[in-house]
Amino acid sequence: MVTVQMEEKGIFDQFKDWYTNRHEYAKAWKEKGGKVMGYFCTYVPEEILYAANILPVRILGSHEPQDVTEPHIFAMFCPFCRDCLAQGLKGRYDYLDGIMIAQSCLHIRQTYTSWDLHIPTDYSYYLPHPMHVQSPQATPYLREELIQFKKSVEDWIDKPITNYDLKRGIEIMNANRRLMNQVYELRKKRNPPVTGLEAMYMVVSSQMTDKHEHNRELESLLQKLSTRDIGDPGERLMIIGSEDDDTEFLAMVEDLGATFVTDDHCTGTRYFQEEVNPSEDLLNAIAERYVKRVPCPSKDWPKRTRLDHIIRMSKEYDVQGAILIQQKFCDPHELDTPAIKEELEKNGIATLFLEFDVTVPIGQFKTRVEAFLEIMREEDLF
Ligand code: SF4
Repeated sequence: MVTVQMEEKGIFDQFKDWYTNRHEYAKAWKEKGGKVMGYFCTYVPEEILYAANILPVRILGSHEPQDVTEPHIFAMFCPFCRDCLAQGLKGRYDYLDGIMIAQSCLHIRQTYTSWDLHIPTDYSYYLPHPMHVQSPQATPYLREELIQFKKSVEDWIDKPITNYDLKRGIEIMNANRRLMNQVYELRKKRNPPVTGLEAMYMVVSSQMTDKHEHNRELESLLQKLSTRDIGDPGERLMIIGSEDDDTEFLAMVEDLGATFVTDDHCTGTRYFQEEVNPSEDLLNAIAERYVKRVPCPSKDWPKRTRLDHIIRMSKEYDVQGAILIQQKFCDPHELDTPAIKEELEKNGIATLFLEFDVTVPIGQFKTRVEAFLEIMREEDLF
């Protein structure tokens, strides 16, 4: 059972606070004189935005029921995409100076298009990002697109982005990735000093906070974690699937005595695992990182590379059970789920599939997770 000792409770509070008060944070940041860019999808090359001293803020939903998106986006688009658009239509991101997307799944593209059409912003950019990332042409293609994107940002801010700026952008992003990878390394321990909920606050907050500040907080966190002990983790779980920042769900599962020790989703490892390997051609280096990163399933074809990756991670983190979650109507993840489930089970890992909506039915899910953990515990007895 995970028990976080009283004196250590506060060490993730700053990340939680950034996540909870994301709009207030961005508005205060902007008052110091910078531009804020709202972005959809983790394929957006934040390195170029940091190079231009722009704050990238990932647009996320609020997990509240809403009735404003129906005229703009079909109800059979994923709830996450509709929830994101609802935030824009309700004016919650009215401080954004610009919005952008890097081409990914069809659903989030519709969110971007509807936002672009109906919510006035000073700047908007659709970055064509290769879907066939396994093609040898993907990196050179993206490099050319990044040249055009960089030029567009320079025109917007009326200032050139130098190689020195780009190096700075890469360094700040790489440092953030390196530090979060170090925190994840600690989760491999027999008694991980971090819960899944805490890790989620850490990663999601990095998508909406100035990484200079976020990195300082991570450095301080790593020092505190070296002596932290939160006890027996119970069942070691992995969460896999669609976009997910449903903190209530993670808290509910961990309150039942299990611990998420790792994940494969875009509010977790898929966001930060790989660094840019700087070379002389910096835009090529950035392109290479986004082409070779662990892919979203919308780009993971013709070979399904995530299967090997997920199995490797499950072994490294000594995972006993996996909760596969999918945003309702999310086609890319829906197509991958049967293969992932089969592969995990072949490797002796118990699985539970759950479909998420804007709000999750926490009571109903609790019953299913309890049954799942019960079966794992019974099997452990024999
Ligand atoms: S990949 Fe799935 S969850 Fe993510 S935006 Fe697309 S449809 Fe929604």
